[in-house]
Amino acid sequence: MIKFSGIAAAGGISVGPAYKIGREEFVVPREPITDQDIPVQIQLFEEALIKTRKEIVELQKRIAADMGQDEAEIFDAHLLVLEDRMLIEDVISRLKKEHFNVAFIFSEVLKKYIDVFSKIEDEYLKERISDINDVGKRVLRNLLGKQRLAFDDLKEKVIVVAHDLSPSDTAAMHKKNVSGFVTDIGGKTSHTAIMAKSLEIPAVVGLQDITLKIKTGDMLIIDGSTGVVILEPDEATLAVYQEEEKKLKGITERFFAVKDEPAITKDGKSVVINGNIELPEEIDSIKMHGGTGIGLYRTEFFYMNRKGLPTEEEQYEAYRSVAEKVAPCEVIIRTVDLGGDKFLSQLQIPVEMKPFLGWRAIRFCLARPDIFKTQIRAILRASVHGKLKLMYPMISGLEELQQANKIVGEVKQELADKKLAFDKDIKIGAMIEVPSAAITADILAKEADFFSIGTNDLIQYSLAVDRTNEKVAYLYEPAHPAVLRMVKGIIEAGHRAGIPVAMCGEMAGEPAFAVMLLGLGLDEFSMPPQVIPELKYIIRSVTMKQAQDIASQALLLSTGKQVEEFSQRKLKEIIG
Ligand code: PEP
Ligand code: MG
Repeated sequence: MIKFSGIAAAGGISVGPAYKIGREEFVVPREPITDQDIPVQIQLFEEALIKTRKEIVELQKRIAADMGQDEAEIFDAHLLVLEDRMLIEDVISRLKKEHFNVAFIFSEVLKKYIDVFSKIEDEYLKERISDINDVGKRVLRNLLGKQRLAFDDLKEKVIVVAHDLSPSDTAAMHKKNVSGFVTDIGGKTSHTAIMAKSLEIPAVVGLQDITLKIKTGDMLIIDGSTGVVILEPDEATLAVYQEEEKKLKGITERFFAVKDEPAITKDGKSVVINGNIELPEEIDSIKMHGGTGIGLYRTEFFYMNRKGLPTEEEQYEAYRSVAEKVAPCEVIIRTVDLGGDKFLSQLQIPVEMKPFLGWRAIRFCLARPDIFKTQIRAILRASVHGKLKLMYPMISGLEELQQANKIVGEVKQELADKKLAFDKDIKIGAMIEVPSAAITADILAKEADFFSIGTNDLIQYSLAVDRTNEKVAYLYEPAHPAVLRMVKGIIEAGHRAGIPVAMCGEMAGEPAFAVMLLGLGLDEFSMPPQVIPELKYIIRSVTMKQAQDIASQALLLSTGKQVEEFSQRKLKEIIG
């Protein structure tokens, strides 16, 4: 039995066999296709070959410049593989015969080649295997967009072990046989961790080199609340965790008992408790956990895991269905927040040195009004089917907010000209997640109908801690006095301007901080659905006076640790 300690990313306990995903391995999806799909698949294949060729030629040039012509010539063999008529024809003829997606067919042909070459008693030819392998992986990567994992064929519940998982890999686990995951890298509020919470599977991230220590089939226990991972547990440990799991169930039942009651303090102050979603299917989970509306609908997943951009119609249908399902409660749709740790392969966004400080969110949208307007049009058209609100991510100053509002104004005019219906009074808010926005919240408040504090980014930017980097995760402190002062300032600025202030970062769903945030005057909390019952329970257990006292005392403390300990202690006193 070996115990590892990582970063607790999504709560809960899971016991089961490990399923390891190598860094460079692809689980290629096997998708049936029809006759009509064949030309498209052939085109995809050709495009992938051209793209791969370009990559290799560029690589060759770089190597020739840095190391010399001889080294660069190694890649000639790779280019030859790409031009191999036999291989290409083999793929196309099997595609026509077998009717599966080209990525799958290509990977099968590749396997056959490698198999044949490895049986040949010729050292030179044997060496070609690594060329074929290398080029093959490049082609596959280009065929699949980015590394994409499929979990469709899992026959039993497993715990995924990976060096890293992208948010779209995590999304692919939805409703599959994955009961948890652990990764070498990542932080508590990386989008991968957030996805794990919404999928309601435990996750531990930032384990450094766990992939070197675990192999597929090893028995694991993971505790997503404490960040503990146990390899090959003994009987006694297993019993302890099973007992813990039972206890957790008991506590959850206590919270669940009040899930459908209003979120109202003992002295009658009511607040809004909303849920965060990434996929429309998660609405059921919000309802099941007693949430009223949606305080953050992240729309990036429309743009990921696919070739091409989502159309207006497709988005309209999704927003409309969400609006209708949640009505009469509100749905706050956040315009697309690409960049940072959420990439989009087909838009060919250049690789940036510091993606979180780069071409992200509203910056990207203002530079690509075509993409932005399509989304705004879809949201506005859907707004007559429920209570939709719109908000922009990563506003850093007044001009950005004004530019975004101007574009929304133009879209409204275009719709009006075409006599298409939309909610003319739709509320438009700004996420406050950049320190410059937090400090100038009074200025921004004049141009926004509401604020929503995005603590995940606000913390990373104000404390200068990459939210996805496990090495600096110890510095990522929601309760840092700098963060508390900013949150206080934002709420006060909003209230002075007469607009409500919400919080949709993960901090809003941290039980320990709920009372403090309530005391600071937060109007709306939006969080992963599973924590809603507990938050309601807490809010229903205090008075505003108590909450305000706790907030004032917390503001006097000097470090994040002190605030965290103080809040935990107070929470215990309140809910027992
Ligand atoms: C945030 O930054 O707190 C937030 C809610 O947005 P995201 O996590 O999607 O960046
Ligand atoms: Mg954010």
